[in-house]
Amino acid sequence: MGDTPVVIIGGGATGTGILRDCALRGIDAVLVEMHDLATGTSGRFHGLLHSGARYAVKDFHSAVECITENTLLKKLAPWCVEDTGGLFIATSDDDPAYAATWLEGCRKAGIAAREVSPAEVKKEVPLISGKISRAFAVPDATVDGFTLAAANARDAEKRGSMVKTYARVTGFGISGKRITSVMIRDAGGREEELACSLVVNAAGPWAGQVASMAGEELALSPDRGIMVVFHYRFTPKVLNRLHPPGDGDIFVPHHDVTIFGTTSKTVKDPDDLTVEQDEVLAMLALGKALIPSIEDLRTIRAFAGVRPLFEEKEGQEGREATREFSLIDHGARGGPENLVSVVGGKLTTYRLMAQKAVDLIAARTGVTKPCSTATEPLSPPSAVEEPGIAGLLCECEQVKGSTVLEASGARSLHSLSDIRRLTRMGMGPCQGTFCAFRAAGYLAGEKNLGAGEAQRLIAEDLAERWKGVKPVLWGWQARQSELARRIYMNLFSLERQEGLKNEL
Ligand SMILES: Cc1cc2nc3c(=O)[nH]c(=O)nc-3n(C[C@H](O)[C@H](O)[C@H](O)COP(=O)(O)OP(=O)(O)OC[C@H]3O[C@@H](n4cnc5c(N)ncnc54)[C@H](O)[C@@H]3O)c2cc1C
Repeated sequence: MGDTPVVIIGGGATGTGILRDCALRGIDAVLVEMHDLATGTSGRFHGLLHSGARYAVKDFHSAVECITENTLLKKLAPWCVEDTGGLFIATSDDDPAYAATWLEGCRKAGIAAREVSPAEVKKEVPLISGKISRAFAVPDATVDGFTLAAANARDAEKRGSMVKTYARVTGFGISGKRITSVMIRDAGGREEELACSLVVNAAGPWAGQVASMAGEELALSPDRGIMVVFHYRFTPKVLNRLHPPGDGDIFVPHHDVTIFGTTSKTVKDPDDLTVEQDEVLAMLALGKALIPSIEDLRTIRAFAGVRPLFEEKEGQEGREATREFSLIDHGARGGPENLVSVVGGKLTTYRLMAQKAVDLIAARTGVTKPCSTATEPLSPPSAVEEPGIAGLLCECEQVKGSTVLEASGARSLHSLSDIRRLTRMGMGPCQGTFCAFRAAGYLAGEKNLGAGEAQRLIAEDLAERWKGVKPVLWGWQARQSELARRIYMNLFSLERQEGLKNEL
C-alpha cells in the first residue's frame, strides 16, 4: 500500500467513526467532507439513541445492534449522551395484542422493558393523553450527532489522521480495476488530486452518487423524514407510541427543546430537504394521539433529513426497508477492488458500522491490530466557559463568546452555522434573532473581520434559520420572525445583503 492513505468520503457519524477506528489501528487515513462535519443526515436526525425497542418486532437484528451500541456509547461518550430513558405508550385506540408481541421481541433482543402505570406517566409528562392503556420504560436515550462526529474527528486528528472539510469529491482516477486517486474541489473551486490506497464511501444518502463516479450502482433508496422542534422540553423521557413504527410517533427531549417526528417518503434527490407546511400540519395531527394539545404548543422550526436506506431486494422502500447496515466490497461484485461502501443503519450503530468497515480495510492493508473503539472512551470537547453571565451571546442556549471563539477556531470559519453545530448558538426559541448579530460583531472584533464579512455571516445565518422557520410560521413563532425581520431589515438595513432581501 506504500505511503498512500485510505480516503474516507463523508464526514457524518459513519465516516468520522471509520476515521477514528483507522487511527486507533495505525492505518493512515484522510477524511473528505463536502460541507462541514455532520451537515448530512448525522446533523438532521431525531437525536434518539435507540434502545432497539422500536425495531423489536420487525427488525430483530437492528434491535440487537441498537441495544448493544446504546449500552456502549452511554459508557464511552457520556458527555454527548443524555440517559433520559424512554417510554413506549399504548392508547385505547391501539391494538392491545401488539404490546404482547413487542414485549416478546424486546425480551429476545435483550432490551429491558418494565411496565409503568398510566398515573406515573401522567406525573412525568403532564401533557400526555388521558387515553393511555399501557406504558413501558426502556433504555432509550438522546445523543448529539454534531458533537459526536466532531469528537471522533478530533480524536483521529490527534492521532495523525487528516480531515478536509468543504472539499467535495468530484471523481476518481481509475487504472484497470483500481482507484488510484480521488479528485477534490474545495469551496473556492480549487481542484486537488489525492492519491489513495483504498476508498471508503461513507457518503450516507449520497453514497449512490459517489459509487456512480466509479461506475458502480448501489441500490440506495433515499428516504426523507421531517421533524418539528418545540420551544421547550415538555417530556423528560423519550416518548414512543406503542404500535408498528409509523409517522409522527416519537418525541425526543433534546437539550432545551423537544423534537417530534418523523415521516418516511422515498425521494430521488438526497438534497431534497424542503419542508412543506402541509406535511408539518399532517404530522402534528398524528401527534395528538400522545399529546392532545400538540397544536397549541409553540413550534420553533421544522427540518428534514434523508435516510440512506439500502435494499438489495426489490420493492422494499420507506418503512418496509431494513434499518440494518450493509458493507459492500465492490471488488467482490466485479467493480473496483479497492472501493468499499458503508450504507444504511442508524446513527446509534455508527461505531459498529465503522468497526466492520475497518476490519475489512485492515485485512486489505495487512494490519492486524484489532478494533478498540468498544473500550477506548471518546474525549469531550475542552471546556472553555467561565461561570456567570458575562460574555453571553446566546441567551436561549446560554452560549458565551469564549465558547464561540473556541468553536470558530476548530476549522476554517465558513459560516455561523458551523459554530452553531458545535455550540447550539441560535438553536433556541429566538432562532438567531439576537445572537446572530452579537456573534458576528464579537467575531469581527476577535478575528479582525471587515464589516462586509460580518454582514455576510449574519445574512447567511438568518437565511439558513429562515428555511426552518418558514414551514411553522404561525402563533408565537410568526411574531418572533417579524421581530427578527424588523431588527435586521429596518434597524440594521440588511436588505442590501444579496440574497437576504428575497428570503425574509
Ligand atoms: C428523519 C430521520 C430521523 C432519524 N432519526 C434517527 C435517530 O433518532 N436515531 C438514530 O440512531 N438514527 C436516526 N436516523 C438515521 C441516522 O441519522 C443515519 O443513519 C446516520 O446519521 C447516517 O450517518 P452517515 O454518516 O452514514 O451519513 P451522513 O451523516 O449523511 O454523512 C454523509 C456525508 O457525506 C458527505 N458527502 C456526500 N457526498 C460527498 C462528496 N461527493 N464529497 C464529499 N463529501 C460528501 C455529506 O455531506 C455528508 O456529510 C434518522 C434519519 C432520518 C433521515
